Amino acid sequence: MSISLPLRPGLEGETPYGAPELDVPVRLNVNENPYPPSPAVIESIATAVAQAATGLNRYPERDFPDLRAALADYLAAESGVRLDPTRIWAANGSNEVMLHILQAFGGPGRTCLTFTPTYSMYPEYARDTLTEYATRPRRADFTIDAEGAAAAIKELHPAVVILASPNNPTGTALPLADIQSILDAARGNGPIIPVGTGSGGDGRPGRADCVVVIDEAYAEFRRPGVPSALELLADGTNPHLAVTRTMSKAFGAAGLRLGYLAASRELVDALRVVRLPYHLSAITQAAALAALSHREELMAQVAGLREERDVLVDWLRAQGLTAYDSDANFVLFGPFADRDAIWEQLVAAGVLIRVVGPEGYLRASIGTPQEMDRLRAELLRAMRFG
Ligand SMILES: *Cc1c(COP(=O)(O)O)cnc(C)c1O
Repeated sequence: MSISLPLRPGLEGETPYGAPELDVPVRLNVNENPYPPSPAVIESIATAVAQAATGLNRYPERDFPDLRAALADYLAAESGVRLDPTRIWAANGSNEVMLHILQAFGGPGRTCLTFTPTYSMYPEYARDTLTEYATRPRRADFTIDAEGAAAAIKELHPAVVILASPNNPTGTALPLADIQSILDAARGNGPIIPVGTGSGGDGRPGRADCVVVIDEAYAEFRRPGVPSALELLADGTNPHLAVTRTMSKAFGAAGLRLGYLAASRELVDALRVVRLPYHLSAITQAAALAALSHREELMAQVAGLREERDVLVDWLRAQGLTAYDSDANFVLFGPFADRDAIWEQLVAAGVLIRVVGPEGYLRASIGTPQEMDRLRAELLRAMRFG
C-alpha cells in the first residue's frame, strides 16, 4: 500500500544527516577521541549511574544545577574564565544546544548567518526551526573578514550568527579581536522586535541585538597562545554572546551526548523556555558529572593528540600536499584530482576518513599513533597507485 505523508514543505527529498557508519579498523571520520575511557573513569560512571538508577521512578532535575556548577568549574580550569553556573546551559550534545538557540531566537522571518565552508549541521538547525539560512564565504585561508561580516550583519539583520572556532572542517581559529568586532556590529543589528527593548529603548519597535554563537566544539585542541572566546564573556559586556562546547571531542565522551554553552544569564533563561522538560536524563547527568571529575586525566590525553596533529600536518606538507594549520583534532588536506578515489582506496584498506570541505580536499581526524601510521602508509599507497 502506498502512503502519502503530509511532509512539511521544505523537507521534500531531504535525507538524514550523517557520515557513513562503516565498521573498519581505523575510524578517523567524525573527530572522536580515539581513546576509550580508562578503567577508573568507567568505574566512576558505573557507580554514579547505579546510584541514579535508584531514583529512576522520578523525573530528573529539570535545570540540573549540579551539572551546571561542574561545567562552570571545568571551564574555569580549562580557560581561566570563571562564570556563575546560572550562565551555563546543557543539552544532548552541542547540536541540541544550538537547536535551542535557533528555537528561541530564529523562526519564520528570521535569519541565521554563517561563514562557509563550515559545519554542515548549521543549515539543518535553520531548516528545522523555519529560519532563513544565509552564508558568506570565508577568506582563502578560512579566516573571516571581520569588516565584511559586519557589513553582512548590517545588511541581513540576522537573529543569530554562528561562527565555528576552531572551524570544522578547516581547523581555523578566529582571533578574539575579529570576534569582538563582529559582536560590536551585532549590537542593535538583529531583527526588529515589536516592543520595548530594541535599540530604540523607548517602548517603540526597534532592532534587537543579534545573538553571536561561537561554536568551540574543538576548543581544547587549540594551540598554545590561542585564546577561547570565553574571555569575551568575563566582564559582562557581551550579553548577546554564546560560546558552545561539548564533551564529544576532546573529552572523549561522544557516546554520552552532552553539550553545553556559556552565555549571559538572560540568554540562558531564554533557552530554558524552549527546552523540552527533563531533556537531560538522570543517567546522562550522573554520567557527565562522573566523567567531569576525571578532567585532569582526560586533558592529559589532549596534549598527545595535539602533538600527533602537528606531526601529521608536517608530514602531509613534506609529501607536497597542502595541509591547513589546525587548532582542532583533525587536518584538512589536499588537493587531489579525484578525492573520492583516494577516499575509496583508504576505506578498502580499512582506514575511514571524510570527504568534506572544498573540492579536492579530505579531512582526517587524529587517532592513536598506530592509527596515524596506518593512515600515512595507506595514503602514500593510494597516492602512488591511485
Ligand atoms: C562535533 C561538532 C559539534 C558537536 O556535536 P555534539 O552534538 O556536541 O556531539 C559541534 N560543532 C561542530 C563544529 C562539530 O564539529
